[in-house]
Order: sequence, then C-alpha cells, then structure tokens
Amino acid sequence: MHARLAGGFPPAPMLSGGWYPVASRAGDRVTISVDGTRFAVHESFLELSEADRVTSVWAFDPTRTGPDGFSDLTSAVVCPAGHHITGLGPSTPRCRCERCGRVYEIET
Ligand SMILES: [Zn+2]
Repeated sequence: MHARLAGGFPPAPMLSGGWYPVASRAGDRVTISVDGTRFAVHESFLELSEADRVTSVWAFDPTRTGPDGFSDLTSAVVCPAGHHITGLGPSTPRCRCERCGRVYEIET
C-alpha cells in the first residue's frame, strides 16, 4: 500500500504528488515512510492506493518556490520506497536511487 497527499498543506515533509510506502495503519492514523523517516499522518490528509507503486513519480514541495514565484515541479522524484531523489532533468525517463541501489522508471 502507498499513500500521497490528498491536498492541503503537508503535515510532514512529504512532497506533493509523491507516493510513499505505508508502514502501518492504526485507526485513522497512517504511518508512512518519507525519505527514510516514519511519520504518522491523519488519513484525511492522504489518498491511499491498495496497490504498491513500482515506479518513481515527480513531486514538488509546495512550501518552496523557484525564482519565478512558482513551485519547482522538477524539484524531486520519489522512489517506490519513499526516498527523495533530486538533481534530475525534467525529461529523465528513469532514475537510480542510491539508497535502494535500484533503477526505477519515472511516471510521466
Ligand atoms: Zn529508494
């Protein structure tokens, strides 16, 4: 199972649009792994996917803006294990996550 922000301000250092692995659920609290650290988030903040995500996704940090005043849509990729990968170009079809030691396709 994976989860991502459903909208609103992120309650944890999750990147908007990125899918993160769910470690556990207890009541209305969902524990997710964000870049190697676990956070408990109220499920109302999340969109849940029963299927595990197997590809990376582009994500952006709504709390940061680029020099043009807009969020930097190429700011990071989130791998299926929830690791943040930065420094990739916008048309990159796949990425290598050094922490997983694997190469993943990036969803477009
Ligand atoms: Zn990874």
